[in-house]
Amino acid sequence: MAGGLRASGEEMLTRESREGLGTVNMPDRILIVEDEKAIADILEYNLRAAGYETLAVQDGSDAMDSFADFAPDVVLLDIMLPGLDGLDICQQIRRDSAVPVLMLTARDSEEDVVRGLDAGADDYITKPFSPKELMARVRAQLRRAAGVVPVAGDEGVMEYGRLKIDYNLYQAFIEGRDAGLTRREYQLLVYLAERQGRVVTRKQLLQDVWGYSYFGDVRTVDVTVRRLREKIEVDPSDPHYIATRRGVGYLFAGEPGE
Ligand code: CA
Repeated sequence: MAGGLRASGEEMLTRESREGLGTVNMPDRILIVEDEKAIADILEYNLRAAGYETLAVQDGSDAMDSFADFAPDVVLLDIMLPGLDGLDICQQIRRDSAVPVLMLTARDSEEDVVRGLDAGADDYITKPFSPKELMARVRAQLRRAAGVVPVAGDEGVMEYGRLKIDYNLYQAFIEGRDAGLTRREYQLLVYLAERQGRVVTRKQLLQDVWGYSYFGDVRTVDVTVRRLREKIEVDPSDPHYIATRRGVGYLFAGEPGE
C-alpha cells in the first residue's frame, strides 16, 4: 500500500515530535480515505506530484488505524465507504484531534455536506474536482493548521489587508475607517474570521451568532452576510473576505497580514 514503508523508528512519531527533531522539509502527509480506486489514484498522483506524502485506504474500518499510524497533516475523506462511513470516521477523529478534514462529496449531496461539517469536517470538495482546486483547498487547510489561525495579539487587533478587526472597540475598520457594522454584523464577521478557512453552515451560524436553536430562518444569515459584504468588500458580488459555499454556508477567506 502506498506510503506504507517507512523507517520503523519514525512510525509512532506525531507531526509535533517529527518537527521537534529539527527535521527540515518533512513533506506534509495526506491520508486519503476513498473506496473508488480511480479517484484515490488521481488524488495520490496529484498530491505526490506536489511533494506530499500520501497513504490511501479503501475501507472505512481501516481509516482510524491508518490515522493513528500515519499521523497525517490533512485527511481527505469520502462519505460513502464500506465498513465505517465518513461521518463516523470524522467524529472519531474529532474526539482527540484537530487535524484538518476535507470531505469528498458527490455533486448533489448537499445534505451530506452539511452533516459532514456538523460532524467536524473543515471543508469539502465536490467530485469531480479539478486538481488545481484540490491543491488550493489542501494548502489552505495546511496553512490554517500551521497556526495561521486568527488570534488577536496583546493589542486585541487582527489585520487582514484592508480589513482590521478591533476586539477592544467591537468594531471593524476598512482602510482605517470605521466600517459601520451593526453588532450582529460584527459578531458574524468575528465568528467567521476566527474559523478562517473552515466552512460554517448557516444553521451553525444561526445557533452560535444569533442564538436561535430551532426557530430561525437561515435566510436571516444570507441577508446579514449580504449587508456585511456591502460594508467590507471592494466588490460584494465577488467577495474577497466572506466566501459562499452555495446552499451550505460561508467561510472567511482572508489571510492575516495579507
Ligand atoms: Ca465512496
